[in-house]
Amino acid sequence: MKITVIGSWGAYPGPGEATSAYLLEEGETKILLDCGSGVVSLLQKDHDLASIDAVVLSHYHHDHIADIGILQYSRVVDMNLDRTDQPLHIYAHQDDEQAFQQLGKKPYAEAFAYNDEEPLIIGPFTFSFHKTTHPAPCYGMKVQSPDDKLIVYTADTTYDETFIPFLQNADLLISECSFYEKQDAAPYGHMNSKEAATLAEKGQVKQLILSHLPHFGTHEQLVKEAAGYYTGCIHLAKVGLTVTLN
Ligand SMILES: [Zn+2]
Ligand SMILES: [Zn+2]
Repeated sequence: MKITVIGSWGAYPGPGEATSAYLLEEGETKILLDCGSGVVSLLQKDHDLASIDAVVLSHYHHDHIADIGILQYSRVVDMNLDRTDQPLHIYAHQDDEQAFQQLGKKPYAEAFAYNDEEPLIIGPFTFSFHKTTHPAPCYGMKVQSPDDKLIVYTADTTYDETFIPFLQNADLLISECSFYEKQDAAPYGHMNSKEAATLAEKGQVKQLILSHLPHFGTHEQLVKEAAGYYTGCIHLAKVGLTVTLN
């Protein structure tokens, strides 16, 4: 499976860029993890919007769902122009029933609920979910490929050791990293570089992508700080960064 960073910013996108979104691919299947601000514009540079099979949303904060309505509109256009006959499938949690009900636009898009009790098969992947500690209900997700590679995405979370068994031995961890080491991220419901790296180290994951990046400081500093606590390979999220696992 292959994963490509589409949006790497927290809160709001940097100029010409996007907030949280990662494109997961295996064969012909394309699934977007989160769909933040600026994503639909950037996605089209390398992908036909009609080729996106599904979106899995971690939570309903704007920096993770800002473009979901717009992506649904693109499917209305694409289906009416016979570019595809496949509705967009949107997977999300139902802890916020009102927000969930606003997803979907039949027959162009259809919403499905996930939970953290049972795995969910989406195309060739098996997804499982872990509720995070965050001001809004939010779920981290683990994706297993047909050849048993594992990607874990923390979504938004405070440092929480209950995450460690969930991400244990992942081939890749995409971790939020909203603050620098010396800053206390917990009051904001987020993690700093040390906490992201500590999760990766304790979970013995093979590679780490630092993402959901802050609008202050120098991002390379986040990598330097994380390297003090995690011994594996560290990537800084940037639009177009791709990691292939096979
Ligand atoms: Zn966020
Ligand atoms: Zn959030």
